[in-house]
Amino acid sequence: MTTPRRTLRSIGELQRAGLVPREDGALEAVAARYAVALTPAVAAMIARGDARDPIARQFVPDLAELTTTPEERADPIGDLVHSPLEGLVHRYEDRVLLKLVNVCAVYCRFCFRREMVGPGKDTLSPAAFDAALAYIGADPKIWEVILTGGDPLVLSARRLRQAVRRIAEIEHVKIIRVHTRLPVAAPERVTGALVRALKTPGKTTYVALHANHPRELNDAARAACARIVDAGIPMISQSVLLRGVNDDVETLAELMRAFVECRVKPYYLHHPDLAPGTSHFRLPIEEGQALMRALAARVSGLCQPAYMLDIPGGHGKVPIGPNYLAGDGRIVDHRGTSHAYTSDGRTP
Ligand SMILES: *Cc1c(COP(=O)(O)O)cnc(C)c1O
Ligand code: SF4
Repeated sequence: MTTPRRTLRSIGELQRAGLVPREDGALEAVAARYAVALTPAVAAMIARGDARDPIARQFVPDLAELTTTPEERADPIGDLVHSPLEGLVHRYEDRVLLKLVNVCAVYCRFCFRREMVGPGKDTLSPAAFDAALAYIGADPKIWEVILTGGDPLVLSARRLRQAVRRIAEIEHVKIIRVHTRLPVAAPERVTGALVRALKTPGKTTYVALHANHPRELNDAARAACARIVDAGIPMISQSVLLRGVNDDVETLAELMRAFVECRVKPYYLHHPDLAPGTSHFRLPIEEGQALMRALAARVSGLCQPAYMLDIPGGHGKVPIGPNYLAGDGRIVDHRGTSHAYTSDGRTP
C-alpha cells in the first residue's frame, strides 16, 4: 500500500488504496447514491486492516448507508423551508447561511447535507450571489454571514477574497464566519494567501473547524490551524457525536483537548441529524447526555462544547443538556452528588 497522491473518488480507487476489500462490489451502489472523496491527507490517517478505524468510518462508504429509516429525511434540518433565495438559509434574525459552493474536499458519510452536496453540484452563480448580497444588504438586522456549503475553503484564494470583500461592503454585517473541514482534509491547501483572503478591514472573521476524532488533529492539521490563528482569526470547533467514532468519553476528552491545544475553542457537539442512510451513526440523546456529564467531570472548562440538536423541520438548534438542576430544590455536582439549593441562597 502506498499513500495516494490524488483524492480517491471511486470504489475502485479505494480498493487499490487498500481501504475496502477487493470483493466488495456492492459498495458501488453506495457510491452511486452518495458522493465519495478521500483526500491524500485523510487516506493517510486510516489504519489499514482495522475495520473499526474511526477515520475510515467517517469517510469510507459503508453498506449500512443503503438502509434508510422512516424518520430520516432528505432535508433533515429544514434548510429549504428557510431559504428565501438560492444559496441563502435565513432561520435566525441576526445571521444567515450563505452557500457559495456545494462541493467539499472530502465527503463525510454522516453528512446532514448529503443530498445537496457532491461533485458537479452547482456553485452559486454570479447572479445568484448578487441577489443574495442584495437580500443581506436590505436587512439591517443581519449582523453575521456564515459561509458554509459545501466547504467554502475549496474556492481559490482569489475567489474567496472577492466574495469576502463583497460581503464586507455591507455596512451592518460585522462578522463573517467560515465553516470548514479543510485544515484537516487538506491542510496543505490552507495557504497564507487563502488565510489572508478571509480577512478584511473593519470586519471580524471567525473560522469554525469541523473535526470528530483526535487523530484528525495531526501535525499538519495543527500547523494549518496555527496559520489561521496566527493571522488573528479566532477559531471555534464543531463536531458530530457519532457511534463508532467518538462515542466514548476518552475520545471526546482527547478531541476537545486537541482543539484547545490548537487555540480552537470547542463550540458545538452536534447530536447526529436524521440524514438518509446514517442510522448506524446515531445514538440516543440520553447516551449523549451521559457522555457530556462524564466530559464535564473530567476536563477543563475550556474543553466543554455545548451539546446541540438541530430540531428536524427547520425549527433551529437547541442545547440538549445535560441538566444539573434535579428539581425539588436540588442541584447535582460534577461527581453526581446532589445538594440542596434555592436561588435566594437559603437551604430549604
Ligand atoms: C446552524 C445554523 C446557524 C448558526 O447557528 P449558531 O447557533 O449561531 O452557530 C445559522 N443559521 C442556520 C440556518 C443554521 O442552521
Ligand atoms: S465537509 Fe461538511 S458539508 Fe461536506 S460532506 Fe462533510 S459534513 Fe457534509
